[in-house]
Amino acid sequence: MKISEDLLKLIPYKPGKPISETQREYGITDIVKLASNENPLGMSPKAKAAVLKVIESGHRYPDASCYELVQKISEVWKVPRERIVVGNGSDELIDFLVRVYCQAGEGILTSEAAFVAYSVRAGASRVKVYRTPMAPGYRSDLKAMTQFLREHREEHRVRLVFLPNPNNPTGTHISDSEIQSFLQEFGNHPELMIVFDEAYTEFVRAKDYLSAQTYFQKYDNVVVLKTLSKIYGLAGLRVGIMMAPPETADVVNRVRTPFNVNELAQAAAVAALEDFDFIRKTCEITWQGLDYFYQELSAMGLPYTESQGNFVLFDTGKEATEVNEALLRRGVILRPVQNYGFMTQMRMSVGLPDENRQAIEALRQVLAWEK
Ligand SMILES: *Cc1c(COP(=O)(O)O)cnc(C)c1O
Repeated sequence: MKISEDLLKLIPYKPGKPISETQREYGITDIVKLASNENPLGMSPKAKAAVLKVIESGHRYPDASCYELVQKISEVWKVPRERIVVGNGSDELIDFLVRVYCQAGEGILTSEAAFVAYSVRAGASRVKVYRTPMAPGYRSDLKAMTQFLREHREEHRVRLVFLPNPNNPTGTHISDSEIQSFLQEFGNHPELMIVFDEAYTEFVRAKDYLSAQTYFQKYDNVVVLKTLSKIYGLAGLRVGIMMAPPETADVVNRVRTPFNVNELAQAAAVAALEDFDFIRKTCEITWQGLDYFYQELSAMGLPYTESQGNFVLFDTGKEATEVNEALLRRGVILRPVQNYGFMTQMRMSVGLPDENRQAIEALRQVLAWEK
């Protein structure tokens, strides 16, 4: 049967190289993986205990309404239940938003070097992707987006704007005043939903950052996405959160499959959300790791972008594919980012102090070797 050209052209999302694959291909056992912005402390012990407890009822269907988890999210973020939808990772929620708001041929708008999931999900629904150039310092340029929307929104039928804040892989953020100006023009727009992807909020140290949750009361087209994959340490269990206008939440709930978040994930998420000690520790270790990276990268003369996430984008000054290959041979998995148009840069997640040291040491060897 004939398959649509649009789908055959899709480029699948390329995740960080798995540890097992690297072990197989390079024949080494001692591997440091700093490629997927995961929590280096693992899972909260409380979340682990919760999983072990509910595994007893693995033969039962999960709670399709995610009642307890939604309740916990509502308490933690002080958002009414009717605004909350839980997904199989925020990736799934991005997919739902595209399916709900865009017909084939309509468009989404995001920035160059924005998190790639938006374009992958849009492509899967035959939705067009428009990108505005970045501002200096690899920042999302809300002025350029404003201009684009003024000039082209109608013609291109742009329905969704995706604003990762902070962004991955650049680690840069959008300031509250930039958000305010943008929302002054497009907040409450009847044909546009504005999605803030706040996967890394807890790590932000910039003083001019504010969650877009602040604007829920004022504007009825603001959506905020969160994930439990990063600071909450549940990347493997897949839990994403959408906070949206109640009408949006209602439609997404109709589109989603009833058991998209399994019972183990639900139980782990409830426990992870209340393990404040674990969250605080993760934050501390992340900030220390980032400062260590900044110091070492500066010492090596490698330019980097200051990050509001748990990773740093830096310039190797060489072809990143080659640097990556040499690092893999030394058992260090970082993330090449050519798919974002960065040919000499790599993204490095913060790990445990010892893993950070090993990664820096390997980088030092690799870059000196090739000089
Ligand atoms: C990691 C990440 C996510 C989370 O994806 P999940 O599907 O929830 O694991 C979302 N947005 C950005 C910008 C990310 O970096």
